[in-house]
Amino acid sequence: MIKKILIANRGEIALRIMRACRELGMTSVGVYSEADKDALFARYADEACCIGPAPASMSYLDMEKVIGAAIKSGADAIHPGYGFLAENAKFALACEKQEITFIGPSSRVLELMGDKVAARREMVKAGVPVAPGSDGCVSGFDDARRIAARIGYPVILKPSGGGGGIGMTVVFAEDELQKALESTQAIAGNTFGLADVYVEKYLENPRHVEFQILGDAKGNIVHLGERECSIQRRHQKLIEESPSTALNDKLRKEMGQVAVNAAKWVGYQGAGTVEFLLSEGKFYFLEVNARVQVEHPVTEMVTGIDIVKEQIKIASGLPLKVTQKQIRINGCAIECRINAEDPLDDFVPTPGKIRNYHCPGGAGIRVESGVYANYTIPPYYDPMISKLIAWGADRGEAIARMRRALYEYVITGVKTNLAFHKTVMENPRFVKGQLGTHFIDRETTLNEDMRALMEREKPLAEKLNRTEEKKKVAAIAAVGAVAQMYCRGR
Ligand code: ADP
Repeated sequence: MIKKILIANRGEIALRIMRACRELGMTSVGVYSEADKDALFARYADEACCIGPAPASMSYLDMEKVIGAAIKSGADAIHPGYGFLAENAKFALACEKQEITFIGPSSRVLELMGDKVAARREMVKAGVPVAPGSDGCVSGFDDARRIAARIGYPVILKPSGGGGGIGMTVVFAEDELQKALESTQAIAGNTFGLADVYVEKYLENPRHVEFQILGDAKGNIVHLGERECSIQRRHQKLIEESPSTALNDKLRKEMGQVAVNAAKWVGYQGAGTVEFLLSEGKFYFLEVNARVQVEHPVTEMVTGIDIVKEQIKIASGLPLKVTQKQIRINGCAIECRINAEDPLDDFVPTPGKIRNYHCPGGAGIRVESGVYANYTIPPYYDPMISKLIAWGADRGEAIARMRRALYEYVITGVKTNLAFHKTVMENPRFVKGQLGTHFIDRETTLNEDMRALMEREKPLAEKLNRTEEKKKVAAIAAVGAVAQMYCRGR
């Protein structure tokens, strides 16, 4: 059994993993950059060491430094979290060579899944439906033109080594193709070090539905149901929920089985996600995320399974304790990503110093965060402040809890997307579960509704700031006043 785990990550996910270590009676080792020396996770860790300057390339992405810290601290395993080195096959291999357990799939699986074209090809062999598109990377403009003509416009160009929605370009007609191809290839080359690009049919306003899987060393693989992650901006998720309103039991069973088959085909071990797009009753494989996902808590809330602890147990060689038949989906959970970003200005990041901070609580509410009052969100990394998760016996209760929790949340000093989430939770189509990846673009009144809401909150926001200037942080009064806005606004 693993005894000591180095967490090669930062922020809320580092804290999430350290908490799991503590519950399992294991020692956690944190690594942090100079910019994170005051971060909560660096203080929470049983042991911690600084591994370099703020830029991730000189700290969190520096394999030698991370492995060096693991060796020095005597950690017998590394948990990579998400992002940074989490899906880096070379890093997993370097861990394997040092006989440090990498908590994740093997380097072979990471390599295969990291190359989206190879993964797509493998999935076709496994009988998993993929969107019409190129068999491999396109060899040049003529090849791309031929494929696009065959599958029909619009098409989407994607970097083979891509992630985070970076570089993907939608092409509506042939005369846009050449320019789009050149630009995608250039972004792919610069960002991922590989200019390979492939073409897929672009689906109009599909739903993003993904399945959480767990696989042990004995080859047992189960799925923990789905998450719907259709509320996105710039192809990046903002709100996730489980279960999806788009699936009935039959489709859930079918997609879940396909996800398990896909994982079995590649010999998947650990926690992972098989992502699909769902359009007009048909589903298509998107990619496998070979790591824990940001949105994993919604699955934990409806299944009662602690995914991070399962990852650690699997890496320790323990078999899965649950069979597919024993897994039940109980109620509904929704997650809002609370980011330091301006929803009225194209969601631009707004890092800076948090002044007042009051976290919501109460029945069914879970907050995953690594911030506190007077904490400065550094500009070098993702500007996520927290993940707010609401569970309810059904979707209606989960939404009601999320709404009231959003109105309990006080964050001053930096702009946040709280108003965006409050607005979406009141949106009639969201409430009905009518979602799609273009939800934000198509809900044309969202900005107007957000503005109106901010206007209503303005006197209070000013009051909060005044209180804080005078160093009278009347947190309780502030929380009460904001929470009442929810009732007054109805
Ligand atoms: P990344 O790995 O860069 O995040 P994905 O392939 O996972 O990219 O896709 C991210 C998002 O981009 C999807 O959730 C969806 O909104 C959009 N997308 C990707 N492929 C398509 C497609 N063929 N048609 C329509 N939308 C797509």
